[in-house]
Amino acid sequence: MSKRILLSSPHMGGTEQKYIQEAFDKNWIAPLGVNVDGFEQELAAYVGINAASATSSGTGAIHLALDLLNVKVGDTVFCSTLTFIASANPILYLGAKPVFIDSEPTTWNMSPQALAKALEEAAAGGQLPKAVIVVNLYGQSARMDEIMELCNQYEVPVIEDAAESLGSTYKGQKSGTFGQFGIYSFNGNKIITTSGGGMLVSDNEKLISRSRFLATQARDAAKHYQHSVVGYNYRMSNIVAGIGRGQLEVLDERIAQKRAIFERYAAAFKEIDGIDMMPELEETFSNRWLSTMILNPEKISITPYALIDQLDEENIESRPVWKPLHMQPLFEGCRFYPHAADDIVSERLFATGICLPSDSKMTVEEQQRVIDLIVRAL
Ligand SMILES: *Cc1c(COP(=O)(O)O)cnc(C)c1O
Repeated sequence: MSKRILLSSPHMGGTEQKYIQEAFDKNWIAPLGVNVDGFEQELAAYVGINAASATSSGTGAIHLALDLLNVKVGDTVFCSTLTFIASANPILYLGAKPVFIDSEPTTWNMSPQALAKALEEAAAGGQLPKAVIVVNLYGQSARMDEIMELCNQYEVPVIEDAAESLGSTYKGQKSGTFGQFGIYSFNGNKIITTSGGGMLVSDNEKLISRSRFLATQARDAAKHYQHSVVGYNYRMSNIVAGIGRGQLEVLDERIAQKRAIFERYAAAFKEIDGIDMMPELEETFSNRWLSTMILNPEKISITPYALIDQLDEENIESRPVWKPLHMQPLFEGCRFYPHAADDIVSERLFATGICLPSDSKMTVEEQQRVIDLIVRAL
């Protein structure tokens, strides 16, 4: 059996251990230290934002953002439906109610049309959401101009979940820097990883400074241990941040590798009627974290599930597109706004989509094996 080909796995650049060694040499094992400060500054500079705070996970960063926006029990928060559960779990941590917004076809991300309807109805009902969480799926930025315009019109703050889109751009501006807050993830399968971790970013330095306070148990300025508000233990360790500093040095290289993988799939499947690769909206640049395509059921008889099983038999990892959150048992009964009455885009993408192996360490020969198998299966 050939070596397993993975969807996306850690890919070290080589300098990570230098930063970790330095932390060991100076006994900056914990709690914070120069790697945390360095990683925060270097990431903020890379995406072009004022301030960043390193966290123990991307989920934790979303939780902090919602807390900083004063989300409380009974509030509502809008969220993209086509995403990983981590985008919405923190809404539940705070006792708030998620309202899910459908995707639109050109980005697979939040539909401005559905968002407009949801905001209009919320305003009419006298309860606007405390925040809108906009996800940038598989590296592709959402239609940020339209979304920001709507949210600004209703004065609702935006949290950009850029966990999957670090390094991507929208009209030249880095993904994750459009809303009041942006978040990134350095989980093991993301485009760069720290083994686990996240980052909260904002142009508002005061809010980021407040997030550091909340993330370290919200300890008041006093000699003794005094606390006036609920805090968390969400800071990134100095060892982990060392990995992040090394990884940031190779981020652009990883993006180039991921994009090359996507281009090879796109070229190989170009002539196959019924395969559509994930689009890239004009004036955006996707990091192509995962190469994703849809199989048109009217033209191709094999289902995504059957194809995933066939690839698995050949020791190749692939997976379906995220199951929309409004379809999850956990969120039964939550409100959902479709793109159009007769077109639920996220459900269509879930039923027909497949994420292909996109590991940046994958060789051209390995990718050719994947391509040949797919062509044969079809
Ligand atoms: C990975 C991911 C997260 C969560 O990040 P963690 O660091 O694993 O907590 C959030 N949102 C999306 C869309 C993700 O893909």
